[in-house]
Amino acid sequence: MHVNIQPNCTDTPEFGTLSVNQALEMILKTVHPISGYQMLPIQECCGRVLFENIYSTGFVPPFTNSAMDGYAIHSADLPAPDQVSKLAIIGTAVAGQAFSGQVNRGEAVRIMTGAAIPDGTDTVIIQEHAEFDNQSITIDARHKPGQNIRLAGEDIKPGDCVHVSGRLCTPADIGIIASMGIAEVPVYRPLRVAVFSTGSEVCDLGQKPVDSADQSLIFDSNRYSLCAALKAYPVELMDMGIIPDDPDQLKAAFLDVSQTADLIITSGGVSVGEADYTKQVLSELGSVDFWTVAMKPGRPIAFGNINSAILFGLPGNPVAVMVTWCFLLKPAVEKMLGITDQLISPRFLATSLSNIRKRKGRTEFQRGILKPGENGQWTVQTTGKQGSGILTSMSLANAFIVLQHEEGNVEVGDEVLVQPFSGLF
Ligand code: AMP
Ligand code: MG
Repeated sequence: MHVNIQPNCTDTPEFGTLSVNQALEMILKTVHPISGYQMLPIQECCGRVLFENIYSTGFVPPFTNSAMDGYAIHSADLPAPDQVSKLAIIGTAVAGQAFSGQVNRGEAVRIMTGAAIPDGTDTVIIQEHAEFDNQSITIDARHKPGQNIRLAGEDIKPGDCVHVSGRLCTPADIGIIASMGIAEVPVYRPLRVAVFSTGSEVCDLGQKPVDSADQSLIFDSNRYSLCAALKAYPVELMDMGIIPDDPDQLKAAFLDVSQTADLIITSGGVSVGEADYTKQVLSELGSVDFWTVAMKPGRPIAFGNINSAILFGLPGNPVAVMVTWCFLLKPAVEKMLGITDQLISPRFLATSLSNIRKRKGRTEFQRGILKPGENGQWTVQTTGKQGSGILTSMSLANAFIVLQHEEGNVEVGDEVLVQPFSGLF
């Protein structure tokens, strides 16, 4: 007797035809920044993407001012070594109220941090370094000309490009824009993202009792985790619910949303199962490729477009959804949003505290718990069971253990590449 077996994802040569990097490269070649912007008050711009370069029209700081509380003097009055100078205090300058007179040699002005440097002075002596006595100060020779002064424009000058278009604004960026007196800036409009779950076994929250013994249904988790991940970005989420494995319903839903969405994300139905119509429908509706990516989890992926919307068909397994989000979808979302500098999520080596089985020929993203060890070295252990349906492996973890394409088994004490979740979620 002979059984004619089919290739399967556990056969090494069939792990995938594309490496993760190749898949990502093809994705990033295909997706482009959306066009369209809106002017927004800067209070609403943190986490938004600048649509244009921002140039300064003025000086920051706008005038030369004191960096300390003390006395403004002329540097020519600084004493020679081993000598002292006695200077008469002729007035006060506070932040928001400049000293308007002229300061002559032998004179000083009491000055507070942020106050404009009075005419005729160029140096500030901090108050702790001056001996105050009856409207005069005595200073010694420890001081340098020009000290404790913040020069007009030392941070920003007129014409400086302070932010480039494509910048995802941070709190400090917003502060800089405000410091130049700019109240609103152009940012990319939000990305319109439609999120579906597919599968007749998938039901939404509230659709069955939480304690139901029904053995044919599972709660949808993918749509919730994906939407949660997307909410970190300026997206207009179109939550499209769950479509059962029914070609007509799938067709209608995809076609309809492709009129308005920039990006459609589905999960489930892109592998080889009998009832998985998503694949069939997607190939009829648009120009969609079905890839086997040499990664675990996350091997089957659909990528292409329906009308002008980019489509990502992610695998159904919840961990595969999270991993493909991180390494294939998120970079695409960032590019579509107009972000030019990819967000940094560093990888580095850590000592493995676990024995890990790994087959060569695919990149594995195991879930790990990263901890500081001795001598500044990081350690990592797996979260335990690594099945692609075990979503607790993601929430217990704080880092991916990235086992590279050609890497084999890992033993306790080996160094492995890790990528913390910070910057990924
Ligand atoms: P599929 O890719 O459709 O073959 O699905 C793979 C596995 O993921 C199956 O066990 C599905 O039941 C499960 N699955 C599919 N969609 C979801 C979802 N939205 N939430 C949770 N699990 C899902
Ligand atoms: Mg399915």
